[in-house]
Amino acid sequence: MPHLMNTYGRLPVAFTHGQGCRLFDAQGKSYLDALAGIAVNTLGHNHPRLVKALSGQVGRLMHVSNLYRISEAEAASDRLAALSGMDEVFFCNSGCEANEAAIKLARMYGHQQGVEQPAIVVMEQAFHGRTLATLSATGNRKVQAGFEPLVTGFVRVPFDDIGAIEQLAARNPNIVAVLFEPIQGEGGINLAHREFTRSLRTICDQKHWLFMVDEVQCGIGRTGAWFAHQHAGIVPDVMTLAKGLGSGVPVGACLAAGRAAGVFKPGNHGSTFGGNPLACVAALTTLDVIETDGLMAHAAKLGEAIRGGLRSGLAGVGGLVEVRGDGLMIGVELDRPCGDLVKRGLLAGLLINVTADKVVRLLPPLVMSDAEGAELVAALVALIKEFLAD
Ligand SMILES: *Cc1c(COP(=O)(O)O)cnc(C)c1O
Repeated sequence: MPHLMNTYGRLPVAFTHGQGCRLFDAQGKSYLDALAGIAVNTLGHNHPRLVKALSGQVGRLMHVSNLYRISEAEAASDRLAALSGMDEVFFCNSGCEANEAAIKLARMYGHQQGVEQPAIVVMEQAFHGRTLATLSATGNRKVQAGFEPLVTGFVRVPFDDIGAIEQLAARNPNIVAVLFEPIQGEGGINLAHREFTRSLRTICDQKHWLFMVDEVQCGIGRTGAWFAHQHAGIVPDVMTLAKGLGSGVPVGACLAAGRAAGVFKPGNHGSTFGGNPLACVAALTTLDVIETDGLMAHAAKLGEAIRGGLRSGLAGVGGLVEVRGDGLMIGVELDRPCGDLVKRGLLAGLLINVTADKVVRLLPPLVMSDAEGAELVAALVALIKEFLAD
């Protein structure tokens, strides 16, 4: 047995290399990757432009420290600000760190407004990470159990329910921010309605709350826009990113705009690794390739085709509840727990995931071809039919 701490129930496979949307194991078996390391490998595996940019950077400079100016971080911050319409960026190394920064920022903002016990509204079924503050913000008891006492200062409401937030706005003077995923990933691919997002923006403006979106999973082009909230035509005060931002190199970011910008001063927050040259070149290259290769429009179109294919392939099949999603963030909800589909997929050479017990989750690389999309649909339809018939 390896000496790894036992935090994951791992599947019995180890990959040796990858190319595009394919992964290969030591026996030479190939797998179609419809998960992208959980929305991380935006550009698939071994993308030539990313490999070239990273190799060059490794030979120049990997780490210096935020005690100095870092031109790659400055460039990446300018790029993210331009794409999002936001003002400033804090770089970190993961999604939970990005959310920790957002939570700290909201609390400091609250104190600056004279609120001594600032509270943040969070949603049911939310997932924000595994650190103490982010697991406390998460709306899943399994993630929290055994780690009490939880971090206080979160108020939970049902997802996508503007009435619940209006009620809080009327009676809780401690609220300073709302944090939510425009599309819940771990929670089962649940989409917030655009109308909800717009109304929430209005309430936040009226109450001077920070409107904070966790786009760690749904951001970076996956839904056909740079960021999923952009479909609703609003700009948030705080946005968090990670997963797909570096196409496999760990990099996270917490962005702030308007009232949320300028809250942190030197000494308030930090990270040793955050914003290092290597990570920032990974982010810059990922964003560049998405733009030059038209990957957002492709993600929107291919996602539509995959959902359409799954709907027609599974039409009339008892046990199917719904096929949903946006772009290449796709959920297939069944009427029963279906974790076994992951193992069946592995045997069939297809990498998928199941979340929220009953939802098959697809998060393919944005470089998946139309032919690979069709292959994914055919393989998954066969697997689901077989599973439901057993
Ligand atoms: C994965 C995820 C996180 C946590 O990211 P880590 O990099 O694992 O810390 C936070 N929020 C959302 C929406 C996620 O999907």
